[in-house]
Amino acid sequence: MKIGISSFCWECFSQTDQSKEAYDKLKNELNADLDFEVELNNDNIHEFVCPKGHRTFTQLQEQKFQILFDIASMALNDGYTKEAVSSYSSSLERFLEYYILVISLRNSVSLDDFTRTWKQMGNQSERQLGAYFILRLQESKPTNWDEKKASFRNNVVHKGYIPSSEEAIEYGQYVLTFIRSMLKELNDTSKEFLDKATFIHLSKNGDKFSDKIRISNGSIPTIISVRGIESEDYGKSTLREELLSIKENGFYKHFYRRKI
Ligand SMILES: [Zn+2]
Repeated sequence: MKIGISSFCWECFSQTDQSKEAYDKLKNELNADLDFEVELNNDNIHEFVCPKGHRTFTQLQEQKFQILFDIASMALNDGYTKEAVSSYSSSLERFLEYYILVISLRNSVSLDDFTRTWKQMGNQSERQLGAYFILRLQESKPTNWDEKKASFRNNVVHKGYIPSSEEAIEYGQYVLTFIRSMLKELNDTSKEFLDKATFIHLSKNGDKFSDKIRISNGSIPTIISVRGIESEDYGKSTLREELLSIKENGFYKHFYRRKI
């Protein structure tokens, strides 16, 4: 999957008189109204090199679970039901990690301690699920977990079961409802720590680069979003509606349109 990132060079801009005219002139020269296409990657760091060789890195503000959910939905739109279920499931797993992080931060766990412990469970989703169950128990809240959906997912991912589009939509709807309702709950009860988890997400790449390298934050409108989370209408749209809307999302540059 490719995404469009900004092709404006702030380094070039810093070498001008930094006036509005200079900004417009440079924007025109760089053709910056058009997105630069890069392949979406796991490190969440996307590089643009301007004609003068300045490197700009863009990271997405969206969390892994949000991106994976969109990838799953695009796979579903393209008819790859098995791949869609697999990515919806990955989205759910990464959301559980996010949830456990937020609750841990709220319980005064340091990021270092969290990271160290997570390393011992990072490769085993059953351990992660167990941690989630126990946290929910301690919060006196339901797990919202549907065991039938979990066995369906296992059949698809491990046994080669080819799901129908109806089954894939039903599974995707389950994941969508699960994550949205939990996000809303976290926003109501632990907003400060949601923000802290977002800050941690955006700080991950900082350590990998020297201070001279500019990292900009980009944002993509994803199906699962925290935008408008306070509103009554938050999360009311169905997956079927979202599947239609994501076709119009111009930030995703479909491979079919270009050669890989
Ligand atoms: Zn430049």
